[in-house]
Amino acid sequence: MDAELKTAANDLASLVEQSSRALAFTGAGLSTECGIPDFRSPGGLWTRNKPIPFDAFVTSRAARSEAWRRKFAMDESFKAAVPGRGHRALAAMVATGRLRGIVTQNIDNLHQDSGVPGERLIELHGNGTYATCLHCARRYELGWVREAFEAAGGEAPDCSACGGPVKSATISFGQAMPEAEMRRALDWSVEADLFIAIGSSLVVHPAAGLPVAAKRAGARLVILNREDTPLDGLADRVIAADIGTVLQSVVERLGIAGPG
Ligand code: NAD
Repeated sequence: MDAELKTAANDLASLVEQSSRALAFTGAGLSTECGIPDFRSPGGLWTRNKPIPFDAFVTSRAARSEAWRRKFAMDESFKAAVPGRGHRALAAMVATGRLRGIVTQNIDNLHQDSGVPGERLIELHGNGTYATCLHCARRYELGWVREAFEAAGGEAPDCSACGGPVKSATISFGQAMPEAEMRRALDWSVEADLFIAIGSSLVVHPAAGLPVAAKRAGARLVILNREDTPLDGLADRVIAADIGTVLQSVVERLGIAGPG
């Protein structure tokens, strides 16, 4: 590890040690080392497929079928993914009380898989490992959706209870944010004394408003992301480096690194 990275990891470890209500805010960049592409890196999902907005999903079966086709095409890499160094480091920081909790934009379930308890985690954009009916909220496992989709020759299935559209339990562009999660995330943000934004381009709103709210309420803001973000000018420290490498080094310095 080069000297600049060592200094950055040292600085972040010290900030964590000095804080009593540190919060991590994570985005798709945390999971790229696990084989899940992000949206906005060069070659990321954004450059391949523009997301299907919520309105189109609700009003058009063709859009729903296309959404499920993409989802199943991606599903192998999601299913094969296991928590990376970054997830494990953050889980160790939560377990030892160094972090109050994690607010995530990710939908890949890897924070839960790394052992972060539900009450320490807020999912702002839902969870892609299951589906729900948009009308009656009935839960469906992806295996059921896939079977029905394939049996119908690639058509999106409807809810077997009420006939409503069945959608991955994630928040699409144009879909309302989950209110309770958003409120809790804002509370945690304004109560934080250290806000660490990790692997997010910080352009997706309203989630990207959280670091701003935290900073305005007095938190120190650290941004760990290999590309520039629009909030870099507001940050007390920007670490433009690989997430897994930096976070692993931070937990080593804190003396809480687990095996591997
Ligand atoms: P984003 O794709 O907009 O930004 C990711 C950022 O992470 C980029 O700026 C990139 O430079 C950086 N990055 C990637 N790998 C990195 C690494 N190893 N080290 C340091 N930096 C790295 O992601 P976002 O801001 O989270 O917004 C994307 C939206 O898409 C989110 O709302 C999320 O719900 C969804 N999404 C989720 C997943 C997932 O669950 N893993 C994957 C893709 C998209």
